[in-house]
Amino acid sequence: MTLSSRRPAEPGDPIDSIETPSLLVDVDLIDENIRRMAVGAGSAGVALRPHAKSHKCAAIARRQIAAGAIGICCQKVSEAEAMVAGGIRDIYVSNEVIASRKLMRLAYLARHARISLAFDSSEGVTEASRCASAAGVVLEGLVELDLGDGRSGVAPGDAALNLARAIASADGLRFVGLQCYKAMAQHAATTADRRRISLSAAAIVAETVRLLADSGLACTIVTGGGTGSWSHEAGSGVYTEVQPGSYVFMDAYYGRIAGHDGTPFNEFEHSLTLLATVTSTPASGRAMVDAGSKALEIGYGGLPMVVDRPGTEYYEADDEHGRIRWSEGARPLLIGDRIRLIPGNCDPTVNLHDWLVGVRGGRVELVWPIDARGPGY
Ligand SMILES: *Cc1c(COP(=O)(O)O)cnc(C)c1O
Repeated sequence: MTLSSRRPAEPGDPIDSIETPSLLVDVDLIDENIRRMAVGAGSAGVALRPHAKSHKCAAIARRQIAAGAIGICCQKVSEAEAMVAGGIRDIYVSNEVIASRKLMRLAYLARHARISLAFDSSEGVTEASRCASAAGVVLEGLVELDLGDGRSGVAPGDAALNLARAIASADGLRFVGLQCYKAMAQHAATTADRRRISLSAAAIVAETVRLLADSGLACTIVTGGGTGSWSHEAGSGVYTEVQPGSYVFMDAYYGRIAGHDGTPFNEFEHSLTLLATVTSTPASGRAMVDAGSKALEIGYGGLPMVVDRPGTEYYEADDEHGRIRWSEGARPLLIGDRIRLIPGNCDPTVNLHDWLVGVRGGRVELVWPIDARGPGY
């Protein structure tokens, strides 16, 4: 048995007996998040294709699809393989794939599922066409637009038109639309900021959609939007589909931006927490927990938030120690206490773990493998 095949708990166990550090998912809250997003996209008249890079877990993807999502997004081929193995039949890799070995693997997946992917280079188109033709399948292609985020994508306008033409005329590929994720909008400080950034990107997207239409290339899919901005893309009249990911869990990074009228962003519930144990109380007002940077990603999403302990703060992470302090008057932590932490950034935190422990009513209900975890290929 490898270390990672040892489950931290079994269905029916009380929460008190779960091994730490473990990621817990409140099943009622994740289902509520899944439902809210499906209802929100549905009432805005856009399709929902959640991003599976947040959970990397086929069981959660199946729940999203059961609630109305049309398919899922992945960021890489290894994720797409795990999702097809888990029964997902419509997968969009919202990223560029260049290596022929990877493109061949995607082409094989297209025998079992509808597979689409993003392009921003003619090299990518040539190679994908060769691999799809060799496998006797069709891959659907979207042109990724660079909307000023400093990431990938081609310039809107003529560059996008030329690449769309290349996809449309390539054997084994079918041009279906545009990838238009505006990363900068997601964590902008206020709802008004996010709306302004998203809608100015949508205006640029609309011009390219028109340019392509005038050249006989219909964009049946215009996709983008994340947890922070999805409602603005959905209401823009330009996008046909939204691709939010973090909403299933709602991390502390999203918890720190503002929603309407300056109140905290609360469209979704914090369903994901890390359960940790106090292992040491070396000085008054201070404790160590068994969850450091090998259990929590503490990069740009920031430090975790402590659940239900006002005045208590997780202030620093070592590899295997989390440093906690509390202010006077706060309830002191004692050796052996267990606390829950809302991770700073859910996606890379989930990637550090093998299991998600689904809890409801004080007990373990489900133990989900994080199928696509790890760096992957
Ligand atoms: C990360 C990502 C998403 C999802 O964003 P969230 O902020 O997690 O909702 C959607 N699309 C692309 C291309 C992404 O990289």
